[in-house]
Amino acid sequence: MLRPLKSILLFAVGIFIFITPNRVLAQNEVVYDPEARLVELGITLSPPAKPVANYVHGVRTGNLIFTAGKGPKNPDGTELHGKLGADLTIEQGYQGARQTAINQLAVLKDMLGNLNRVVRVVKVLGMVNSDPSFGNQPAVINGFSDLIVEVFGERGKHARSAVGMATLPRGQAIEIEMIVEVMDTGVPIAHGDNARTPLSMKYLGAAGWEMTDGKVTVLVDPYISRLKYGGGGDPNDHRPDFGRDATAVSDTVLIDSIIKKADFILVHHGHFDHLGDVPFIARKTGAKVIGTETTMNILRAYGIPEEQLYAVGGGEDYQFDNFSVRVVPSIHSALNEKHYFDSRRFDENTPLKAPLRIDQFIEGGSLMFLARFEGHEVLTMGSMNFAERELEGIHPDILLAGINGSRLGLYKYDERLLKVTGYPAIVIPTHWDNFRLPYDYSQQAGIDRNINPFIEAVGKISPHSKVLTPVHLETIIVN
Ligand SMILES: [Zn+2]
Repeated sequence: MLRPLKSILLFAVGIFIFITPNRVLAQNEVVYDPEARLVELGITLSPPAKPVANYVHGVRTGNLIFTAGKGPKNPDGTELHGKLGADLTIEQGYQGARQTAINQLAVLKDMLGNLNRVVRVVKVLGMVNSDPSFGNQPAVINGFSDLIVEVFGERGKHARSAVGMATLPRGQAIEIEMIVEVMDTGVPIAHGDNARTPLSMKYLGAAGWEMTDGKVTVLVDPYISRLKYGGGGDPNDHRPDFGRDATAVSDTVLIDSIIKKADFILVHHGHFDHLGDVPFIARKTGAKVIGTETTMNILRAYGIPEEQLYAVGGGEDYQFDNFSVRVVPSIHSALNEKHYFDSRRFDENTPLKAPLRIDQFIEGGSLMFLARFEGHEVLTMGSMNFAERELEGIHPDILLAGINGSRLGLYKYDERLLKVTGYPAIVIPTHWDNFRLPYDYSQQAGIDRNINPFIEAVGKISPHSKVLTPVHLETIIVN
């Protein structure tokens, strides 16, 4: 069962820009199907060519997309050239405008992935290369408007200008721009031009991560010892078996080989597989630890100095030098077939003496964190549960999604989580492995049981999200 980890694989992940304002899709709007209309009309959209200069095909701001001007370029690369009123008939111009509409739809399709995400076409500016004597620009631009309404129906009806131009680039006959309102369903801008600072994310197993943007190193629930406990582990694992009432220990040699430095440690809750190694790591690194009052009191028992301890309750939004973190109130996984409940807290009067027993690492309440790095926002989870309304308005580009089996007992977990977080560009499963096994043991069972079904679900719910499967101690780099 040993599976040695030899290589560190680096994933370079192109990231898209997501802007997701709040707009709820009315029931009747899903009935209309522009994608199906395109098929009926026999129109195939091919991706637009790369822009030839320092501009993009379209810019999304809020729920509006502004497209660059497009012309009557045919699929074979030729363009309709000439002046209306001198070289071309109105019918030729009309057909050119229709082709221009197809080219603009190709831009929208490229940006949106699916034209059904168009809420409505707002505004069209139609420019016609015109002889001074020609005054029937609207009849030409009708070629554009008619196709748009054929495809989008009522939603295609738009405000419009149709004007004459003395000349157009390369002598093309028509150029048209449009403004389109779109849904807030996690829509990527295809040609993101914002270079971001890459974020390196090393998976430490369980809900544990090491993240750095090169300036600040943040650990999340760094549980590395991966003690064998409760039986039921791997028969090849000959380490001693810990019971719930055993004294907790940390594998300090292993931790030293993995954790070199840390500026912050974010702790979701106090259970052993989240907090168990934090006393050693906090002392070793001097990192600031952010967690619940219970977490702080456990760390006090281990002698971690007050200046490293930041007790939070959820709702705080703290700015540090190169890093800020919003603390999100959360709830613990619904373990034991939803019979899990633990309201215990350790306050300053709780007598605690280190080293604690494993069962003294109580939950103490649960949190999530929005960790803001240079160029990236990561929403972290430490359990298979969340308080939906606490996540409203939080739209990270990276979601660390808790996906162990207990999530299946929750109402539409995947769907609600992805929706409320704005369909993040990058989704990384966390807390999906068997943390009772050492790092170099196979986690295929967790991949089969948790990850693969989750990837399938995300593909349906949020097709533009990219799901990355983390591997123990390997680093994912998100650009
Ligand atoms: Zn827990």
